[in-house]
Parts: sequence; C-alpha cells; structure tokens
Amino acid sequence: MYWTVNGNGIVPDTFTVDLRTDTISQPTQEMRDVMGNAVVGDDVYREDPTVAELERRSAEMLGKEDALFVVSGTMANLLAIMVHSTRRDAEVIAGDNSHTFRFEQGGPAQIAGVQTALVKNKADGTFDLDELRDKIRVDTDCHEPVTQLIIVENTHNMCGGKVLPLDWLESVQNIAREYNIKVHMDGARVMNAAVYQKIPVSEIAKYVDTICFCLSKGLGAPVGSVLAGSKSFIEKARRTRKVLGGGWRQAGCLAAAGLVAINKMIDRLEEDHIHAYRIAKAIDETGSKIFSVDLSTVQTNIVMVNVDRSKACTKEILQRMATVLPQDSVRVSLKCSSRDPGLFRIVIYWEITEEHVRAAIDKIKLVIREFDSKCTREKRKNMD
Ligand SMILES: *Cc1c(COP(=O)(O)O)cnc(C)c1O
Repeated sequence: MYWTVNGNGIVPDTFTVDLRTDTISQPTQEMRDVMGNAVVGDDVYREDPTVAELERRSAEMLGKEDALFVVSGTMANLLAIMVHSTRRDAEVIAGDNSHTFRFEQGGPAQIAGVQTALVKNKADGTFDLDELRDKIRVDTDCHEPVTQLIIVENTHNMCGGKVLPLDWLESVQNIAREYNIKVHMDGARVMNAAVYQKIPVSEIAKYVDTICFCLSKGLGAPVGSVLAGSKSFIEKARRTRKVLGGGWRQAGCLAAAGLVAINKMIDRLEEDHIHAYRIAKAIDETGSKIFSVDLSTVQTNIVMVNVDRSKACTKEILQRMATVLPQDSVRVSLKCSSRDPGLFRIVIYWEITEEHVRAAIDKIKLVIREFDSKCTREKRKNMD
C-alpha cells in the first residue's frame, strides 16, 4: 500500500495490479545487463553468435534438430503454416477457440493463402478426435482442399491456460501420421505446461513435428519467440522469415535476454501457477451467483472467470475493478482483460508478488459483493 499526503491528511493511494496478460512482464535486471554486453553480428548472414546460441539451446531443450529465433508467436505460427502448406490447395485444421484462428488477423488466409478448417475446442483445450478425422481431407476429390497441417495449442489460452494431456497429443500424432499430415504446436506457453506436468518440455514436443514458444510472455524477455523442428523445416522457415520482413541484424541483443529467459525463468513459473490458483480459489469460495471459475482448468498462470451475462455485464465489472472510488476501503485498481462477453481473464507473471495477489483478491471480493448484492436487490424489486 502506498500513502500520499493531500488536503485530507495522509490517505492511502491506489495500488495498481495489472493482470491483463503476461506479455506486459518486463525484462529482469539480469536480462537488461546481458543485453548491453551481448556479443552480436549480422544474423541475416548467420554471424550472430548469441542468436545461434539461443537457437541451439532451444532446439536441444525441445528435442528438435534445429530452431529459429523470430519476432513473435504470431510470426512463428504463420511460418509454420506457410512452410507446412506445400501446395496451393492446402488447408490447415485448428480449434475454433485457437489463437491462430481468432487472434492472428486471419494470417493463414491473409498472407499464407491457406484456408483454416475448424474443429470445436472443448473446455479443456482439446478437440474431439472423431471430429478431427472427419475434417481431414485427402487428395481424392477435386472439389476439396487438402489437409496438410493440424494445429494444437498448449497451454490453451482461451481455455484458461489448460495443459493438453499427453495421451491426447499422442492420439493426434497417430491420426496425423495415418494421413501423412503434420502437427504444429502453438506452444506460446508450453513451458508452463512442462512445469505443471513436471516433465522436460521435449516430452511434450515429441508428439508434434514443429513447435513454437514465447520468450516474451511468462518468461519475461522483452521480445521474441522460438520456432523449432527438423533441419529442413527450419531452413525453409528461415528463408520465409526473410520475405515477411523478419530477417534481423544484431538480434543477439534480444537473444541474450532470451537465453536468460530459458535458463532462469522456467522453473519459477510454478510460483505463477500457485498465485493463479490462489486467486481462482478465492473467487470460487465467494459462492457468487454471477462470477464462477472452473477450478479443474486452473493449472497454470491463467484464470478464466465466467460471468453470468443475464445478471451482469463483463465490461462494467472490468471497469469497476480498475476504478477506486473515494469511499472504497480497498485502494486497489485491478486490471483484467476480456475478449468474450461472458468471460474475463487474469494472467500471472514474474513481477506479480504475494502482495499483488492479496490486493487482487481483496478487490475482486469487493466487486463480487457489490455485484451480487445489486443483483439480489434487483431480484427483490422485481418480486415486489
Ligand atoms: C500470445 C500468443 C501467441 C502470439 O504471440 P505474439 O508474440 O503476441 O505474437 C500465439 N499463441 C498463443 C496461444 C498466445 O497466447
């Protein structure tokens, strides 16, 4: 809690807790130090030793032949789609709640020229395997496109950071092999999955042909993602990255921070998971009529809070959480994000401390009490 002196004497000032997303995490002091001292070269000429080191270490960690440092997760996914789609009539299959379909500006269509076929995401981030089979189109009917790629997302962002079960991944891999198509994992937060499952990330990556992960989310690096796969896949992705304008020069300054991210920031994700669960549990324990959390899906650093839309408006709730009224006893401005009308999202990252978590819980409880009692009052009014 911070205090300010004003005309009313010493009053508590507002304490801001920003849980909109983990991309807002800032580089650690160690990252900033190594960035300043990084040994660099022109990476388009393959002369940057720090980028090479990040790519080598990432490939090794993921159990893949090679890896490529890229600007963003969006670019990594787009590259995977472009490289795996080797024919003009290619189609990719993705979940209807997947990041590649919902939040990448239609890049597969816009830039790769590839159609996306959707399978329905279940609440746990998986999809039905029979539905997947039904959606796969093989090269026998000239009316149809040809499936070349299946995309899975782990952890699943819009399903509240849910970790994909390994046996499900294995089944997807088996189906893909049967039809001779590839599997790409949008593993923006796959390190969170590995920490949750207490296994090396290579034990997850072995079920997919290609995989990417973000250095700039929970791992705290300022910029970048890594895409990994076979040697020939990465060779093609490197060439395609150039045409997208993603060939970068002394990128070692950024790769240096990425190396700290993979060396120092993975094991500590556990702490974020504990914080997320604590918040989820506090919400659950209120027994609110409006707010609810499916605790079984809260495994990593994301909490999806459901809002009963017949009783309250998510936008109003978010606004109230971010606002501190003069009469409020809890002096906390809590920022959350929402992309669906009946849901808002809480995301934890390394700078969020115990104090932030306590403050966030206090504020959420206050807002829940307020909306719940408003709802009860209105119900009574309607009965009168
Ligand atoms: C954030 C995210 C991405 C995209 O990463 P950017 O670096 O923001 O482009 C892709 N997939 C998932 C699941 C994400 O959460």
